[in-house]
Amino acid sequence: MSVRPSEHPAPWAPSEAIGAPTDPVDERIEVGFLIVGAGPAGLAAAIRLGQLLEEHPETAERLGDVPVAVLEKGKAPGSHLLSGAVVNPRGLQRLFKGRKRIEDMPFYGEVQGESVLFMTKRRAMRIPTPPTMVNHRNHVASLSQLGRWLAEEAETLGATILPETSAEQLLVDGGRVVGVRTGDRGRGRAGEALGNFEPGSDVTARVTILSEGTQGHLTGAALDHFQLRTEPQVWALGVKEVWKVAKPLHDVVHTMGWPLRAGRRYREFGGSFVYPMGDDMVTIGMVVGLDYRDAELSVHDLLQELKTHPRMRKILEGGERVQWGAKTIPEGGFVALPKRFHAPGLLLTGDGVGLVNVPALKGIHYAIESGRLAAEAAWRTLERGASARSALATYDESLRESYIWRDLQEVRNMRQAFGRGFFVGGALAGAMTATKGKFPAGNAHTELDAEQSLIATDRAKSYPVADGKLTFDKLSSVFASGNRTRDDQPNHIRVQTNVPRELAQMWEHMCPAQVYEIGDADGDGTVEVKLAPSNCVQCGAITAKGGRLTPPEGGSGPEYTLT
Ligand SMILES: Cc1cc2nc3c(=O)[nH]c(=O)nc-3n(C[C@H](O)[C@H](O)[C@H](O)COP(=O)(O)OP(=O)(O)OC[C@H]3O[C@@H](n4cnc5c(N)ncnc54)[C@H](O)[C@@H]3O)c2cc1C
Ligand code: SF4
Repeated sequence: MSVRPSEHPAPWAPSEAIGAPTDPVDERIEVGFLIVGAGPAGLAAAIRLGQLLEEHPETAERLGDVPVAVLEKGKAPGSHLLSGAVVNPRGLQRLFKGRKRIEDMPFYGEVQGESVLFMTKRRAMRIPTPPTMVNHRNHVASLSQLGRWLAEEAETLGATILPETSAEQLLVDGGRVVGVRTGDRGRGRAGEALGNFEPGSDVTARVTILSEGTQGHLTGAALDHFQLRTEPQVWALGVKEVWKVAKPLHDVVHTMGWPLRAGRRYREFGGSFVYPMGDDMVTIGMVVGLDYRDAELSVHDLLQELKTHPRMRKILEGGERVQWGAKTIPEGGFVALPKRFHAPGLLLTGDGVGLVNVPALKGIHYAIESGRLAAEAAWRTLERGASARSALATYDESLRESYIWRDLQEVRNMRQAFGRGFFVGGALAGAMTATKGKFPAGNAHTELDAEQSLIATDRAKSYPVADGKLTFDKLSSVFASGNRTRDDQPNHIRVQTNVPRELAQMWEHMCPAQVYEIGDADGDGTVEVKLAPSNCVQCGAITAKGGRLTPPEGGSGPEYTLT
């Protein structure tokens, strides 16, 4: 009998992530504007608010001692940022409006040339670059480095950035979002307070901007609480490595085909990217839609397999892996955008609400643009005579008038088409591109990743054995993510721990960080699932496939610097 992950939902309820303030009023930390997440969206919001504060110093006084605060769960800004990344500079240019030039930004340079390859096991055939994948005038970056730079800019403009701080609960009072509660620190595995215990706090603000990125914990809860969902969101998992290499790579390379299988029954949609990072580094990554069905599919192992291709070996020859990481990407596109991007006291930005152009593999400039527009709407709440409700509603209007909206509308059914297999999907995608999204008319229906029934195909047998030079196992990869999380933290992964073997197998293979292990059989056809949560790199894949990633203790998880 086939198993679907959705039949074994996580022991978790959205209401756990929403509550009223509990700290006495005089013990709450009060800030002007509160931003959750120091990614491109959150930092763009902080920078724009800082610019407005600079232009209107008289208003700054009305916002108290901390006019703008940014909470970030990673050890430092950038620690949890991972992307390709080829960046469309449009968002940054509109944010800085000439105050910073491209040359001031931490880019590895403009894209010099590009190739798209269709791969078989031994061959790589160059195909014409689809219009959605043209990267002329874009720039290569490490998002982790770009995030650190944006954080410095935000701080220069007066924002207070609080790293190692997880926002755990959205505070709602009288139907209005009034801030967040941060997570406790210094608890043991069973939840007991250790010697260094520090309780979380209620942080309150006139407007809260959620910029949590993919699988945002509070964002998801807010979408449910305020009934903002439309079509279900779907995700892809990206696993990438950064290599020091002997020879420079000049082109930005994208591949499709092998090691993914084309048949409709597999539902394997995705591809790989290889980007030059200056003369002596490259980044190589594999991205696969999480609506796949094979219980033995492992994106980490597919990336290892990809590197054994003669074309990839040539790029990496004489080189050395210096970093590894993983993260999900929301892929539902236009049809999965929420009904509204605001609620009382709240604005939602970036990947959290799915602002990603899937065929172009781009979301950074949309995150930045949405952060900027959210900041301007938040600022409007300060205008004389403005009602907070109508001020925040202007965010929706400006998003709908922005280039984000137009771009996403043009590729609106692209991802959904690939659920029909690689070749049918490819043909439909071509027609959609040619008609700028007008064909086929209407919006395609999206199927939840966790609704896909699982199949078994012995796929794992063909993954290469790790040699520690070109190919690596998961545990050494977790080490290469800089993850130093202590083993005795409370478990932040919610999954059912007695499930059918196929599901446990799927989680075991899917997780790039080796968090899940199959334990004993229980005699009723189910097996025990054992967890090693300290390995987790917070990629978010488990939330798409039947479990729930909740925010762990602040400061834990990967410590990316180059991803
Ligand atoms: C493999 C891969 C390749 C990609 N390639 C490209 C590319 O080449 N070009 C491109 O434009 N886009 C690319 N993208 C997409 C792009 O990275 C995202 O669209 C972009 O990072 C979204 O920005 P964001 O600010 O919304 O979220 P994020 O970048 O995810 O940042 C969110 C931040 O919020 C923090 N956070 C989350 N929840 C909490 C919480 N509860 N409390 C405190 N902090 C929290 C996180 O730690 C993180 O620092 C790629 C993505 C992946 C995964
Ligand atoms: S346990 Fe962590 S690393 Fe593993 S799939 Fe879940 S979120 Fe990703």
